[in-house]
Amino acid sequence: MNRYVYDFTEGGREMADLLGGKGANLAEMTRMGLPVPPGFTVTTLACRAFLAHGAEPEELGREVARHLTALEQAAGRQLGQPDDPLLLSVRSGARFSMPGMMETILDIGLNDDSVLGLAKVSGHERFAWDSYRRLVQMFGSTVMGVDGALFEEALGRLKEDRGAADDLRLDAHDLAGLVETYKAVIRRETGADFPQDPQEQLRRAIRAVFSSWNGERARLYRRREHIADDLGTAVNVQTMVFGNLGSDSGSGVAFTRDPATGRPGLYGDYLANAQGEDVVAGIRNTVTLDELEELDPLSYTRLRDYLRILENHYRDLCDIEFTIERGKLWMLQTRVGKRTAEAAFAIASELVDEDLITADEALARVSGEGLARLMFPRFDTASVGAPIAHGIPASPGAAVGAAVFDSAEAVRRAAAGEKVILVRQETTPDDLPGMVAAQAVLTSRGGKTSHAAVVARGMGKVCVCGAEELTVDTGARRFTANGTTVTEGTVISVDGTAGAVYPGAAPLIDSVVMRYFETGGQAPGGNSQTVLGAVHRLMGQADTVRRLGVRANADTPEDAARARRFGAEGIGLCRTEHMFLGERRRLVEAMILARTDAERDKALAALLPLQRQDFVGILQAMDGLPVTIRLLDPPLHEFLPDRTELAVRIASAEAHGGTPDAHDAELMTAVNRMHEENPMLGLRGVRLGLVVPGLTAMQVRAIAEAVVERKRAGGDPRAEIMVPLIDTVQELRIVRTEVEQVLTEVSEAAGIPVECPVGTMIELPRAALTAGRIAQEAQFFSFGTNDLTQTTWGFSRDDVEAAFFSAYLEKGIFTVSPFETIDREGVGRLVEIAVAEGRAARPDLKIGVCGEHGGDPASVHFFHDAGLDYVSCSPFRVPVARLEAGRAALAGTEGSDSR
Ligand code: ADP
Ligand code: MG
Ligand code: MG
Repeated sequence: MNRYVYDFTEGGREMADLLGGKGANLAEMTRMGLPVPPGFTVTTLACRAFLAHGAEPEELGREVARHLTALEQAAGRQLGQPDDPLLLSVRSGARFSMPGMMETILDIGLNDDSVLGLAKVSGHERFAWDSYRRLVQMFGSTVMGVDGALFEEALGRLKEDRGAADDLRLDAHDLAGLVETYKAVIRRETGADFPQDPQEQLRRAIRAVFSSWNGERARLYRRREHIADDLGTAVNVQTMVFGNLGSDSGSGVAFTRDPATGRPGLYGDYLANAQGEDVVAGIRNTVTLDELEELDPLSYTRLRDYLRILENHYRDLCDIEFTIERGKLWMLQTRVGKRTAEAAFAIASELVDEDLITADEALARVSGEGLARLMFPRFDTASVGAPIAHGIPASPGAAVGAAVFDSAEAVRRAAAGEKVILVRQETTPDDLPGMVAAQAVLTSRGGKTSHAAVVARGMGKVCVCGAEELTVDTGARRFTANGTTVTEGTVISVDGTAGAVYPGAAPLIDSVVMRYFETGGQAPGGNSQTVLGAVHRLMGQADTVRRLGVRANADTPEDAARARRFGAEGIGLCRTEHMFLGERRRLVEAMILARTDAERDKALAALLPLQRQDFVGILQAMDGLPVTIRLLDPPLHEFLPDRTELAVRIASAEAHGGTPDAHDAELMTAVNRMHEENPMLGLRGVRLGLVVPGLTAMQVRAIAEAVVERKRAGGDPRAEIMVPLIDTVQELRIVRTEVEQVLTEVSEAAGIPVECPVGTMIELPRAALTAGRIAQEAQFFSFGTNDLTQTTWGFSRDDVEAAFFSAYLEKGIFTVSPFETIDREGVGRLVEIAVAEGRAARPDLKIGVCGEHGGDPASVHFFHDAGLDYVSCSPFRVPVARLEAGRAALAGTEGSDSR
């Protein structure tokens, strides 16, 4: 039989699923002997049953009645008893804390009779009427659905009438009048009376808390925080204690340490003569706990002791709510406290020093996302003003610069030494040079996985996207936002961590953590309790326990060197396409336009030494570590001029009576010949090497000769050759034969052995499904999860994100874009199949991943679970991946509930 109600003496913190976080922790504190007002918890199970059937489960009423009777017997008073009423609070409390999202109703049990009894027994008439008016107000708005503003207005009018600055100036008589006003509001708005029957009040309050689970606010919050919709909330029914009984009473909140910095020592706010809701409502100014020490030293000392007991017990930062009733301290709530990224690292490390937790537990309590936040400069929050616009925080960090409205202008100004921020409606690959030149990218459209967001994250560049309050007028070179107009050259500040845009230059604080990684992660001086000390310790722990290797995606010696300083153990993806751009585009064009083998060979021969030099530089930067070089992948038309541009050039030559440039005409023919409706599914990847004679041989020769050159220089080059976009083993077999032949030629000519493992990307479903056969020809696999996601879902990434991802997220079809976090169910299954079949065919097959997902925390955990050997991500994400790979390896260690 289901049981729906647990007394606080019956539960504990291990029962949070059933009792909710608040209920479980109230029970835990009760079990620990801390002073918690007695009560009981109605389970999440009861809530789920109520929400499913639209009615309470039958037994619930009886169980509540039984527990209430027990409570009444212990108190020697009854709920709402006219001469000495027992009063109750009815509090929501879900598994994961959802602050302020659901309802709480205080002072249940008061009515026109019991308010008089309360006034008499407490000897405090004003207090009794104040409590009653609070009940009517809360019950009216939460349970009876009256607009809360109507009560606030009535209260405001009364204060005005009485010339009262705050509500403490209203006397019992005023408040009694206010109760009547409130009741009239309820009657007018609902046609019903405020219920006088305490039992009815309790029943309806519990039901209202159940229903608040599906309130709009709560639903939105859950979506944002990725909390499941079907958990339901528990309801805590608790004996009231009173902080509003005079100056020897009050309420407050406290943290066991500073949640902003992690520094030890009590931290909190206190408000005398108030109930807890007043503390957060900000109706009167709170004081610090230091002042509480002066006001009420005894309670302060107790509070301090209890906090120490709690922190030692929970072995983590605790966040509590308390009330002092006539000098007696009561604990009303505790939970593991939320904290900033900085505090998370500092506290975890301190608790290790205090022997409260192990280094593994400390590792479980920090996160890659937190680390990423610490790696960027930030604005001094104390001194920035109000933002002029908000957007999606797509890539963290803070940047200041002059607004510019196109890529060319960004490049021009940056070259002249100016710091710029590229502002676009949305970005395209054409904006790349401008994005590289800019400090930050700001767009008015597009989500977290838009071009701007993805590229900026890859480059470690600040990005706020989808700032819809922005109207970007590229032609006029300005944007407007909420009445502010910003013209080109005007300095603005962009906060990619918070998703905010500020006018002018907001003061910046540099990241010490970034400097730490940039200088190679040396042990910092000072103690382990500074953020740096903590980061150093926890990175060390992660490296000790992780099984996954971490490599970087890098295609220049500079990126390779940085990746290495950041702790990369090699390059998992070295793209070769950028080596075909810029100056070299001409040669590539010549290769594409070649009419004869001789012409093509000539172009390839000219490219060869350039490619070789590229590889020499990268192999040198990664000396002794693997460098996985991917053969040319993108569709060839990407190397030719834009079709429209060419057409315009030709047309305008003709319009001026001339004949178009012969080269342009030739290019146009080639562009037309190579035009594809779906280039991402067209002539690219391995298909290029199979169709363009000599291309693969040239690239492999460049790699092999670079290896020879490095060996001659005394280096330890470890190049690996990776073939992209394989569908079938036959493709790989043909390419591999060609590769081996070139390797043999080069090594025989040089008299130096050149051994490069040859492997393949697994980025098409067919390749994943036939991985067993492909592994016969491949010495390693690397999952290209971007293409694999595109082709598994049938999503053209460049099209779908802007078109309908926000609608999909809105409808809950997925809670996160599959391009951001790997889709375990679908794409992940293909990965698992390929790993199993690949390893079955070749037990020593090395397997990695080199898509964007390699630096995404949740995805890293999946790749660990799937048994991969390494992940590869952008250099800036390497520390994040190392940390998360360590956390993934902590099987069965529970992290703190950081939500
Ligand atoms: P939330 O989850 O929004 O913090 P709570 O259930 O904690 O809501 O209730 C809000 C406030 O109501 C508490 O901070 C506390 O001050 C007050 N409160 C709740 N229960 C009681 C009680 N039994 N006695 C006195 N005050 C209470
Ligand atoms: Mg609370
Ligand atoms: Mg790919």
